[in-house]
Amino acid sequence: MPTVYLNGDFLPLDEARVSVLDRGFLFGDGVYEVIPVYSRRPFRLHEHLQRLQHSLDGIRLANPHSEAEWVTLVQRLAAEAEWPDQGIYLQVTRGPAPRDHAFPAEVRPTVFLMPMPLKPPAPALVASGVCAITATDDRWLHCDVKAISLLANVLLRQLSVDAGCAETILIRDGRLTEGSTSNVFIVSGGVILTPPKSQLMLPGVTYDVVLELARKHDLPHAVREISEAELRAADEIWLTSTPKEVLAVTTLDGRPVGDGRPGPVFRRMHAAYQAYKTAVMHGA
Ligand code: PMP
Repeated sequence: MPTVYLNGDFLPLDEARVSVLDRGFLFGDGVYEVIPVYSRRPFRLHEHLQRLQHSLDGIRLANPHSEAEWVTLVQRLAAEAEWPDQGIYLQVTRGPAPRDHAFPAEVRPTVFLMPMPLKPPAPALVASGVCAITATDDRWLHCDVKAISLLANVLLRQLSVDAGCAETILIRDGRLTEGSTSNVFIVSGGVILTPPKSQLMLPGVTYDVVLELARKHDLPHAVREISEAELRAADEIWLTSTPKEVLAVTTLDGRPVGDGRPGPVFRRMHAAYQAYKTAVMHGA
């Protein structure tokens, strides 16, 4: 049973309790992060904590901890968990209060951190690629806030589960936004393309890493809007997220992407990502 952190205490997961009046439970009124830890070293912790601050600002909830305090909490859980590679789930809600949509006069936020095992995609999946379907992006207009109210994402993700696929890729007003749980890149004419950050997508930490690696390795790339037609005509499609890392989509809505196998640009990026991750694991 892993040790978790709840409101000042470290305790076994099955002993952690929150009130049914918690606004996270009643309204989905909270935000979260999933911070990867490789060989017990947090990966891009500062960037995850910056995105947490952005999400807290987006829901007008004061950050209950300084960055140094968050680092201490994450490092303690990372050190104690049974798995060397983990995703540390971190959630802050507006806390317990009598049920009323309006913010309570006095907010006592609920702070919860829990380590989860983190396994990269199996090598066979990296080699074969995965299938994805498309759906209309009918989420709200603050997708840059990593809110725990994930009902739309849950329903969209389930569409691809029902289709036996790994992800639902979302289209809003004829343009690619992201996946239900990941960001999306395409390769067209040898150029890596991804939509610009906006309120319509989550600013992925992996998305930033992939763009940095494209720059570092001189891979042609551009950040710009991508039409649905470009997505469907792409030579390669990739998903990026903390657990997926970089994963090729080889079938979209039942049709092969490119020649139906992970493409050459994907293979370069995947290798660059693995090399970067290994360097971070060894303290680079
Ligand atoms: N978009 C959505 C909707 C997500 O849920 C995630 C995963 N948190 C991402 C993108 C990718 O973000 P990251 O690379 O920081 O894991």
